[in-house]
Amino acid sequence: MKDQTIIVGAGLGGLAAAIRLAAAGHSVLLLEKNQRIGGKLNLVREQGYTFDTGPSLLTMPWVIRDLFAAAGQRMEDYLHLDQIEPICRYTWPDGTVFHAWQRLPQLIQEIERISPHDIHGLFRFLAYSARIYAAVADNFLLKPFDGISELLTPRLLRDGPQIDSLRSVDAAVRAYFRSPYLRQIFNRYATYNGSSPYLSPATFNVIAYIEFAEGGWYVRGGMYELGRALLRLAEELGVQIRTSTTVAEVLRDRAAACGVRLECGERIPAARVIINADPRYAYAALLPDHERTARRLARLEPSCSGYVLFLGVNRTYPQLAHHNIFFSADYPREFQAIFQKGVPAVDPTVYVATTCLSDPQHAPPGHMNLFILVNAPALGSRVNWSQEAVPYRDLVLAKLERMGLDHLRQHIVYEQIWTPHDIQSRYNAAGGAIYGLSSNNPFSAFMRPPLRAHGLRDLYFVGGGTHPGGGIPLVLLSGKAIAERVAADSAKKSLH
Ligand SMILES: Cc1cc2nc3c(=O)[nH]c(=O)nc-3n(C[C@H](O)[C@H](O)[C@H](O)COP(=O)(O)OP(=O)(O)OC[C@H]3O[C@@H](n4cnc5c(N)ncnc54)[C@H](O)[C@@H]3O)c2cc1C
Repeated sequence: MKDQTIIVGAGLGGLAAAIRLAAAGHSVLLLEKNQRIGGKLNLVREQGYTFDTGPSLLTMPWVIRDLFAAAGQRMEDYLHLDQIEPICRYTWPDGTVFHAWQRLPQLIQEIERISPHDIHGLFRFLAYSARIYAAVADNFLLKPFDGISELLTPRLLRDGPQIDSLRSVDAAVRAYFRSPYLRQIFNRYATYNGSSPYLSPATFNVIAYIEFAEGGWYVRGGMYELGRALLRLAEELGVQIRTSTTVAEVLRDRAAACGVRLECGERIPAARVIINADPRYAYAALLPDHERTARRLARLEPSCSGYVLFLGVNRTYPQLAHHNIFFSADYPREFQAIFQKGVPAVDPTVYVATTCLSDPQHAPPGHMNLFILVNAPALGSRVNWSQEAVPYRDLVLAKLERMGLDHLRQHIVYEQIWTPHDIQSRYNAAGGAIYGLSSNNPFSAFMRPPLRAHGLRDLYFVGGGTHPGGGIPLVLLSGKAIAERVAADSAKKSLH
């Protein structure tokens, strides 16, 4: 069908665009190379253990509600969200433990316990980051921009100073908190988009605000239930979905995209093509006439990747919460290793999620499912993961044993390791970068490939590699932005 829209990739961005376009009456064909939809939001189910392989924390849940509403449905009829308390259990090498409660009175009590003079700082920080939110919500998040001309509005010029883009996340955090523990906690939010708190602009302090003000959420049954719910909604709206279908090339007719060629040779015509795959991969692999753009994007700094362990253990660790962070002793050194030296940190911060605490069916009785994530440099650095993967596993597990997970290695009954190579090959994510380009400088947002591809009409990008950025809510918002641009472009065409 010539008037259909083809979407390359059924990650959350592709699904969101498909739902919005189908709800607006478009005929949509979604092509996904993997056997299952969801992209980085995915699933491993082995030997009685279930693991979410990508996102474990959901923020801005209203973005999902809004997506269902755009299709005339209620989110609550498709999936259930729960707020997890505490939102995270933090542990430091010196034995200090901090529970970050979402309920304010409990959070204040916890701050009072480790650093009473910082309570006032917390309120000042929340007020400061709320101002950033007010300034960036319209200019960047809710209405992602397409090029500098769309961005330079009188409103942005008015709100500019609130955005706090000229100092780093860390510099701002230091101005509000005295405790090194609290500074490390608030600096960690820069990693939510795969960046360093010592390099990324203080604008990203908005992430902490969003989590504290709107909550950190979990999808009941496991994060993959979000993928299942969006798949159901898309199918109900008539979106055609072909999995195990790899696109090999975007077809062009003069200066416009006009379909795709699949790896198997089949050619499918389309009125427009929307690429949900990472734009850096797409320019290099799917758009043969765009080597210059591919080369330019390849020179830009990627976000960090991840080193992941999926462990099934035949015991429980009662001290663990659903989300846990085991911090490094030297945070600046850790980010220097990842972003400046391009090597994995020797003393990494380790994230451990145990979803079986919220969903007991995720592990056999008396067992636990541990999803372990460590920030790692994107590929292209000096790491040979085929040699490093196993020694690094021992380094990470030895650290967890030192920090209270006694005899962890003796209790592992199921294990899988993913290095940045796995993240790259599973999702065609260039360099295994989780969030596309890094946000390590104030101009990063302007470097991201735009929603409307330059130099080729009827070609669009959606998802974490474009605007407004990576992470579940932003990727879903990019689906909304694409649907709006397709509507505007179609209206323009029908006038001609
Ligand atoms: C380990 C990890 C932890 C994370 N933690 C969080 C978290 O806690 N909270 C949060 O909000 N976010 C988190 N994220 C980020 C979040 O998962 C992503 O930002 C989001 O899922 C990206 O969605 P997307 O649609 O942009 O792209 P993707 O999920 O990458 O989807 C792109 C799709 O395109 C497909 N594709 C690629 N090439 C082709 C081709 N040639 N033909 C057909 N299909 C193709 C891929 O297979 C993939 O399915 C995490 C990610 C990872 C990996």
